[in-house]
Amino acid sequence: MEKLDHTISIGSEVGKTVSCSNCGREGTTEEFITLRDHKGKDVYLCPECKEETNQKFLAETTGQNIILAGVGGIIGAVIGSLIWYFITTNTGQEIGYISLGLGYLVGFGVYLGSGKKRGLNLQILSAFIAILAIFITEKFIFDYFVNSYITQHLTDYPMLSTHRYVFVSFLDPDFLQQFISPIGLLIYAIGIYIAFKFCKPRKI
Ligand SMILES: [Zn+2]
Repeated sequence: MEKLDHTISIGSEVGKTVSCSNCGREGTTEEFITLRDHKGKDVYLCPECKEETNQKFLAETTGQNIILAGVGGIIGAVIGSLIWYFITTNTGQEIGYISLGLGYLVGFGVYLGSGKKRGLNLQILSAFIAILAIFITEKFIFDYFVNSYITQHLTDYPMLSTHRYVFVSFLDPDFLQQFISPIGLLIYAIGIYIAFKFCKPRKI
């Protein structure tokens, strides 16, 4: 209780005596920082443990394995893209919000591949892989719908047969026009942001 005498009271609030959740040392809420744990409960850290934690967080941004981060991100992208492609082509509807899950898988893949590291370079790598994956997946989904249209209207396309799968160009104006829709772009942006955020360095 002695320590309470030395705390500065702000308004009517007097620093509460708490113990550091890391080392158990006692102090007041004014000298300790207050954090929220995953259950939404307040926990406290003394300045020394805060510094130590930030040092650990800083260490997460060094010694990244960039090559494996790229491989991990691509694996995440392929898994996410395949799920997206099969759900969309099986339901017959364009379900762009699956790109949010793809963004998560890319970020997670980069994180694991890098050796559970973080940093702006990994964030940029994740975003880049997510953008490519979204663009490529949408093109193959577009191909699928073009081909199913042709199959249904075969008499209108005497030059084509059901045995020939048509691939449109990535620069096909019809594809690009469909790709660049305001709602589509908003959803892609969120998916890319999810990928970008995954390896964000931590700090308290
Ligand atoms: Zn402590």
